[in-house]
Amino acid sequence: MGKLSIQDLDLQGKRLFIRVDFNVPLANGGQEITSDKRIKASVPTIEYALEHGAGLVLASHLGRPKGKVNPEMSLKPCAARLSEILKRPVAMAPDCVGPSVTAMLPKPGEILLLENLRFHPEEEANDPGFSKELASLCDLYVNDAFGTAHRAHASTVGMIAFVPQAAAGLLMEKELKYLSMVTQNPQRPAVAILGGAKVSDKMDVIENLIRIVDRLMIGGAMAYTFIKSKGEPIGKSLVEDDKLDLARQLMKDHGDKILLPVDHVVAAELKEGAANEVVETIPADQMGLDIGPATIDLYSHEIAKAKTIIWNGPMGVFEKPPFDKGTVALAKAVAASGAISVVGGGDSEKAIKSAGVSDKISHVSTGGGASLEFLAGIELPGVAALTDK
Ligand code: AMP
Repeated sequence: MGKLSIQDLDLQGKRLFIRVDFNVPLANGGQEITSDKRIKASVPTIEYALEHGAGLVLASHLGRPKGKVNPEMSLKPCAARLSEILKRPVAMAPDCVGPSVTAMLPKPGEILLLENLRFHPEEEANDPGFSKELASLCDLYVNDAFGTAHRAHASTVGMIAFVPQAAAGLLMEKELKYLSMVTQNPQRPAVAILGGAKVSDKMDVIENLIRIVDRLMIGGAMAYTFIKSKGEPIGKSLVEDDKLDLARQLMKDHGDKILLPVDHVVAAELKEGAANEVVETIPADQMGLDIGPATIDLYSHEIAKAKTIIWNGPMGVFEKPPFDKGTVALAKAVAASGAISVVGGGDSEKAIKSAGVSDKISHVSTGGGASLEFLAGIELPGVAALTDK
């Protein structure tokens, strides 16, 4: 990785600032955590730091409070949940900077969770004064929040200028290890599966991955922009007309590597359980809502041969059965392949869960936006800012 790891730091007796990702989904006016997955994902780094003699200042954002205090986006429930998981006390600070925080700073073996960083507009503005205040809370810095590594904020970039050493946490290292493994000199054949709603969201990813992989399979609504660009009918399917030229150019330059669906599950309306049929050519009054069985076979065959698989985005409207079949079938194919597989994006992750194959995937990324930027070949500011090894 070329950057310091938490394992390179001398933590004994030090106060360590860990930028974690506790941006958890909340219900009941911010009282109840509906998934503690992100909190659990930070535990290995927290336990490592405690075992090596550090006192911990943990910091995160939660939601979009837009620079104002909003009790519904307080990190208090996260302190309580983390304390239950670790079976040790986790103190909760009333703010993230200022005298109320400095009065509570942890001794070795203790944990203090700061209040939501984004209650201060200076966090997202990457304000130097605020960055300096955050840095004054610690001796050393670790970033374990891969999900925000694509943002240059005070807690992910700014404060690093004011600390002697900044290292990657264990989760951050794992993310970077797998994403690098599949994009830098991957075992071949290497394939990518890209789906989801919009070509525009993933154009940079397509342009970067097409140079890396041996096959790129496209599904989801994205496919219809490519199909239309070839002059074929797409009926009422979702399409981005302003991306037709780009799609045409990509097919011209890389048509030998790109696979498009050869059949489609179509319906007259986008509704759960809508009457549907499988077609090769989409009728004018129908819309494509999933890849068809021949496409599942075609893509599964490529997946079975692959040694490296990158997957982002569903193959159809998978949240509305029966239009989830293509996505679930590919999840099973990826799991059965035995290849190194890296999956990003919340929808693909849900599909993997509902196919019951989570344990057969090498790595499911915790950061949707950050993993897409990485796959697009963009340097993540939160990684670039860490201290070189
Ligand atoms: P994204 O956030 O770009 O990964 O897109 C995910 C969304 O794409 C999901 O909500 C899917 O329902 C949607 N999607 C996938 N395939 C289609 C399709 N054929 N028509 C409309 N929406 C789709």
